Amino acid sequence: MAQAPITQDVLTIPRKLPEGPLNLVGLTRAALTEALITAGTPERQAKMRCGQIWQWIYQKGVRSFADMTNLSKEYRALMAEHFVIEVPEVVTREVSEDGTRKYLVRIAGGHEVETVYIPEEGRGTLCISSQVGCTLTCSFCHTGTQKLVRNLTPAEIVGQVMLARDDLGEWPEPGKNPHDETRLLSNIVLMGMGEPLYNFEAVRDAMKIAMDPEGISLSRRRITLSTSGVVPEIGRTAEEIGCLLAVSFHATTDEVRNTLVPINKRWNIAELLEALRTYPKASNSERITFEYVMLKDVNDSDEDAHRLIELIRGIPAKINLIPFNEWPGAPYERSSNNRIRAFADIIYKAGYASPIRKPRGEDIMAACGQLKSATERARKSRRQIEKEAGLG
Ligand code: SAH
Ligand code: SF4
Repeated sequence: MAQAPITQDVLTIPRKLPEGPLNLVGLTRAALTEALITAGTPERQAKMRCGQIWQWIYQKGVRSFADMTNLSKEYRALMAEHFVIEVPEVVTREVSEDGTRKYLVRIAGGHEVETVYIPEEGRGTLCISSQVGCTLTCSFCHTGTQKLVRNLTPAEIVGQVMLARDDLGEWPEPGKNPHDETRLLSNIVLMGMGEPLYNFEAVRDAMKIAMDPEGISLSRRRITLSTSGVVPEIGRTAEEIGCLLAVSFHATTDEVRNTLVPINKRWNIAELLEALRTYPKASNSERITFEYVMLKDVNDSDEDAHRLIELIRGIPAKINLIPFNEWPGAPYERSSNNRIRAFADIIYKAGYASPIRKPRGEDIMAACGQLKSATERARKSRRQIEKEAGLG
């Protein structure tokens, strides 16, 4: 092969393309531009081409270069030679009696994660996963009993939004306004499997695509990231993502929080609250959501409610009470409806919104903290099948 000419301009030295076609999904604009140049796009055109391809992928939902009709035939062929546009594969889709849809999604390496779509009046929320399993071991969470297998890539994170839009048939028709906020998929919550702040860069890059006005174009106020309390990453979330924040608070003393959310032993309630105090201003967002799972006789007393109010004083907040969702072998019980209402009442009277989260998709094990079960069951039965067949 001819040697590349040596010049002063480093940008003219051919860049090396990765082995095999590169997936363009999940690349930042800068990385996409770079990839296009590496594949032979003249540098002065690269930014414009990046914008065009970006819009085809994220605004129109196109998966084949052949459909990108504002690009020349030759250029489409060049793109198809070097790149693919791929989202993770849906293995199964279950639809609950209440309309909730749970997708079992296969990612590279044969791993599986779950994504849940929750239709609501005039809107719809997609609950997406950021890791396969979770390294943390919150004692009331089913995902926490599954060891972490790996972090998801940006493509696998934003890909969950794309596959849900595929399933909902929600890519805009040509000429229709893609910014229309009466969408079926109008909100994203990072509340599926995994701790999003332990996969910060990938989550950030994926959410940047979701928020990009030429991308999926959801307002940052329609994206909520839930963390168990990874204190050092909270400031970065405000600066680099700027979405809404939810925090898995769940207890009002360090003693109880240590057992429920063990990351509390690393960063305790005082340190967490300190980080939360600066979040709304730093991210220019509104209130922080305090998630509080209602566990019978563990964290659901009137004293807890009063302590909670004292702790969060001065933080713009809403408290989201989550009735505990049971899973096989769980060591807790759900608080009674009366207890939950009494707790909510104390908080409401102190001036905070205190909605009680209605469990959705329970019949398909799609409710908060129940994810992984279906996958795990399927694995088990496969193992059993293999065993029975003498392969195990
Ligand atoms: N790892 C992140 C986000 C995923 S969990 C976090 O912990 O914040 C989303 C919410 O569901 C969290 O508030 C979590 O504590 C809660 N949750 C987990 N298991 C639950 C269960 N069995 N019942 C009710 N809520 C649960
Ligand atoms: Fe992980 Fe969140 Fe479950 Fe805790 S509650 S184990 S951080 S997914």
